[in-house]
Amino acid sequence: MILEKKELKIGWLYPTLMSTYGDRGNVICIQKRCQWRNIAVSIIPLEQKTDPQLFQEVDLIVGGGAQDRQQEIVMRDLKGAKAEAFKAKIETGTPGVFTCGSPQLLGHYYEPALGQKIEGLGILDLVSKHPGIKARRCIGNVVFEVTAEPLAQDLKLMLGKTPIVVGFENHGGRTYLGQVEPFGKVIKGYGNNGEDGWEGAFYHNAIATYSHGPLLPKNPFLADWLIIQALQQKYQQTISLTKLDDTVAFQARQAMFNKLELAHIDN
Ligand code: GLN
Repeated sequence: MILEKKELKIGWLYPTLMSTYGDRGNVICIQKRCQWRNIAVSIIPLEQKTDPQLFQEVDLIVGGGAQDRQQEIVMRDLKGAKAEAFKAKIETGTPGVFTCGSPQLLGHYYEPALGQKIEGLGILDLVSKHPGIKARRCIGNVVFEVTAEPLAQDLKLMLGKTPIVVGFENHGGRTYLGQVEPFGKVIKGYGNNGEDGWEGAFYHNAIATYSHGPLLPKNPFLADWLIIQALQQKYQQTISLTKLDDTVAFQARQAMFNKLELAHIDN
C-alpha cells in the first residue's frame, strides 16, 4: 500500500499588519511540527490584495494581534467575499488559532481607545472595548485551565491530565462573552477582561485567546490538536500523530510555573 503524503495549507491572516509579540511563532510551530512528521506545509498569507478564493482553500487559519490602528485597517478590509469565505470556513469547522486583535475582529465589534467603534465579523458572540488610553493594559504571563468542550476532553486524553495553558498577554481591550464558550478559566493573569475569570473563546474548532505567539510552542499539545483537526477535516479519516520530544517545552512551562508560584500544577 502506498501511503499518500499529507499536506496542510495554513492561512495566515494579514501577516504584515497583524503579528505582534511573537505571533509568528504560532505559524512556525505548526509548520515545524508538521514537517517533523513528514506532513507538507504551505503558508498562505491572506492579505489586503488576496483573492477571496484563496480564503476558501486553506486547511487551518492563524491570526495574530495588532495595534489598534493596524487592526482597524484589517477590520475595514475584511468585508464582502473575503469575510463570507472566512466565516464559512469557521462555521464548517476549519480549525484556527486567533490571538488578541484577531478575536476582537471575530466578535461583534471593537471599541478602540481612540476613535469610533469598528464593526467585527460577528462570528463569535463577544464584544471588545478599550476603556481608554489612561486605563491600565493587561500585560504579563497568564496561566489558565482549558475548559471548552470537546477540546478539554481531547487534550485530557492526549496528556493524561488536566490541560493547563501557559501564555503571555498584552492588551488594552477587554472582551466580554455572550453565548460563546470560553476557551479556559484563568488561574493567573487577566484573561478576557480581568473581571470575570474567563480566557478566550472557543467556537467549532476555532480557538480565540489573548495569549500571544509563544502560545503553541509553549503548549505544543494545542498545536497538535489543531493539526489533527485540520487533517481529519481534509482527509475525512481518523488521524493520530507520531509523538515528538517536547521535553524542552515542558521544562520551559515548569520554569514559568515556578516563577509564578504555581509549582504545584501538574505539568
Ligand atoms: N489593539 C488591541 C488591544 O490593545 C489588540 C492588541 C494586541 O493584539 N496585542 O486590545
